[in-house]
Amino acid sequence: MSIKLKLEKFKFNGFPDERPLIMAGPCSAETEEQVLETARQLKELGVFIYRAGIWKPRTRPNTFEGVGKEGLPWLKKVQSEYGMLTATEVANAHHVFEALKYGVDIIWIGARTTANPFAVQEIADALEGTDIPVLIKNPVNPDVELWIGAFERLNQSGIKKLAAIHRGFSAYHKSFYRNSPQWQIPIELKRRIPELPVITDPSHICGNRELLFEISQKAMDLNFEGLIIESHITPDKAISDAYQQITPETLKGLLNRLVLRNPNIENAIIMHTLEDLRNEIDKYDSKLLEILADRMKVAEKIGRYKKENNITILQSGRWDELLKERTNKAVKKGLSEEFILKVLRAIHQESINHQTKVMNE
Ligand code: PEP
Ligand code: MN
Repeated sequence: MSIKLKLEKFKFNGFPDERPLIMAGPCSAETEEQVLETARQLKELGVFIYRAGIWKPRTRPNTFEGVGKEGLPWLKKVQSEYGMLTATEVANAHHVFEALKYGVDIIWIGARTTANPFAVQEIADALEGTDIPVLIKNPVNPDVELWIGAFERLNQSGIKKLAAIHRGFSAYHKSFYRNSPQWQIPIELKRRIPELPVITDPSHICGNRELLFEISQKAMDLNFEGLIIESHITPDKAISDAYQQITPETLKGLLNRLVLRNPNIENAIIMHTLEDLRNEIDKYDSKLLEILADRMKVAEKIGRYKKENNITILQSGRWDELLKERTNKAVKKGLSEEFILKVLRAIHQESINHQTKVMNE
């Protein structure tokens, strides 16, 4: 079911309406000089939306929690000296009042805050009567409903210029990424609210500089609307998120390398070829469904047989062997281990459900 929100185009008077929308700037505003020099260099690249954290939600106490409202006049200078739009993160009503007082143009709600409906509601209430654009980062946990809930809360307060920031999801295990992108979550968000722009935040997904391009390109290939990337004049000296920040010069290289593909198919030959290929996919999908359904019928037979002979559903030795054997085969056929494990576990769970049902009939 798609969600109905009252949205207005995420557009700024007097600024180019370009795609991808690029927002860049330091993780944190640290000094007036750092804020202004970063802005000057970014402006030269053609970036016109400047991000900087004023209040920083840190995981552990006793680390740098942002300069606080002392930094807001610096953002005002970014506006007046470079004609840029400014954006910062708010996590409570107090932040909202201060940001509005100093004329911040765009605010965003951080991932830890989106996960907290009380905090989101407090921000929504504080924003009532304004029409400032608000970006909402995904919650730290991969919960699309919670993310949608935040958009609904803001929208109910009359905020219509809304966009999503996809910044990845935290996990217990240290993985390749700082925050696993789990692309299916923003894709599902787009399916549910098609007119909502999605901006990807490669910096917080990657946690390092090396992977930024790959994630940015993928966001473009998924036809997401923009990128928010952390940029600092001396990244290694950054007080927060040093590993993932890049100089404006490096950002320029990254943006120039991005390949922007056409989301619309205008050429008839391309369209027909694609249709043929999609038909092939459709055929495979219907075969897959039949095979799965047949497989479940066998599982039910096994369930009945086990019931008659009073045997438990799960023999974990068999499951372990099956998992290893199928995974080896799949990997040889070019499927990733991560993918096949997910598929096999889902099939196995469904099979257990069918067996449980017949056993308890
Ligand atoms: C940030 O953008 O600097 C930030 C704190 O992000 P997140 O809420 O994604 O952790
Ligand atoms: Mn950061």
